[in-house]
Amino acid sequence: MYLPQEIIRKKRDNIELTADEINFFVQGIAKDTVSEGQIAAFAMAVYFNDMTMAERVALTCAMRDSGMVIDWSHMNFDGPIVDKHSTGGVGDVTSLMLGPMVAACGGYVPMISGRGLGHTGGTLDKLESIPGYDISPNNDVFGQVTKDAGVAIIGQTGDLAPADKRVYATRDVTATVDNISLITASILSKKLAAGLGSLVMDVKVGSGAFMPTYDASEELAKSIVAVANGAGTKTTALLADMNQVLASTAGNALEVREAVQFLNGEYRNPRLFEVTMALCAEMLVNSGLAADLDQATEKLQAVLDNGEAAKRFGKMVAGLGGPADFMDNYDAYLEKAEIAKPVFAEKSGYVFAMDTRGLGMAVVGMGGGRRVAADTIDYAVGLSDMIRLGDVADADTPLAVIHARNEAQWEEAAKAVRASITISDDKPEPTPVVYRRVRPEDV
Ligand code: URA
Repeated sequence: MYLPQEIIRKKRDNIELTADEINFFVQGIAKDTVSEGQIAAFAMAVYFNDMTMAERVALTCAMRDSGMVIDWSHMNFDGPIVDKHSTGGVGDVTSLMLGPMVAACGGYVPMISGRGLGHTGGTLDKLESIPGYDISPNNDVFGQVTKDAGVAIIGQTGDLAPADKRVYATRDVTATVDNISLITASILSKKLAAGLGSLVMDVKVGSGAFMPTYDASEELAKSIVAVANGAGTKTTALLADMNQVLASTAGNALEVREAVQFLNGEYRNPRLFEVTMALCAEMLVNSGLAADLDQATEKLQAVLDNGEAAKRFGKMVAGLGGPADFMDNYDAYLEKAEIAKPVFAEKSGYVFAMDTRGLGMAVVGMGGGRRVAADTIDYAVGLSDMIRLGDVADADTPLAVIHARNEAQWEEAAKAVRASITISDDKPEPTPVVYRRVRPEDV
């Protein structure tokens, strides 16, 4: 028998906690026998004294097990259960192609995704721009769509990792969000509750990333890989660039359009293609669906070329309540803004740098994201034809096309886009799409 205050005192005094102590504390959080004040004190003690990897594994497992852990065994899937999680970005529509591509290669992807957070877009918000798409089906439908399409992307249900919900809400108002131990446990407890065989983490780096520096992103990637493997789920991570908008679009319906065009082979932004292929290949290798990255890449290219990946996306959309002919008639279904007009730079020159966060906030400012949790989303607004780092912006090549509801909204967004893009006479050094891969043996 433990006391919450004694566990907090131990952490305050920088003494390593046992797995049993951490379990007791987390169970108390889930059962409401640990107060918000005690969660806050615990989080602050961890903030200052941090946690060992063993403590992080115990915290992650305890939070994962605080609610339902999905058991897929009754579904008799004939392939591995795999998933990817990203720390979030702008124009990061990767999940919408990755899920169907991996499914078409024999994996099963029951992906539990989130909404937009701050300047970043959310996969769920994007999918809700598809008329009829239900992000909260019951467990039977979730399982059946995963079985039939190989992929189902839905929202978090209340019974997955409920302890994290309380801990996160307290951290959010007590200046304890930015601690790598707590972030690791928070992300992984929710993901691992989905009953995965293996996981790939996409940890973003750069001006639109959640972590403020390359080193912090790398530290988070290493922590996640060490802890997830310690918790028994084979996991690797990629450090991927977020120094510019990843896709050619940013905004919910616009990104869904780009994802469908990608899968249909109508248009593929090269950076988006590279990072999507790298993440998918990692998933195929981790789960044993490919012997190595070269074989994985070949398989993935084949399912893009033969239309199987596109078919899987269409099946998922129809299975979750969307239109059956979405892949062919997506343009008729996705809402459009009244104005779609280019914004040009004030002087010609190379695109030297992007404040990617600022561009994400320009979309939020138009209503494409939330300022407070209760806000509704305008799916139609956003940016398309996004210029890339190293391109020349001039009178012929705009910085972006802004999709807005009215002129005043367009003007405000134009100001934000111009302010977020640095034009120079100098061409910048190209940035890699993927900086490095983090494997269990690297941590
Ligand atoms: N996302 C999460 O789910 N949890 C964190 O702590 C940070 C980002």
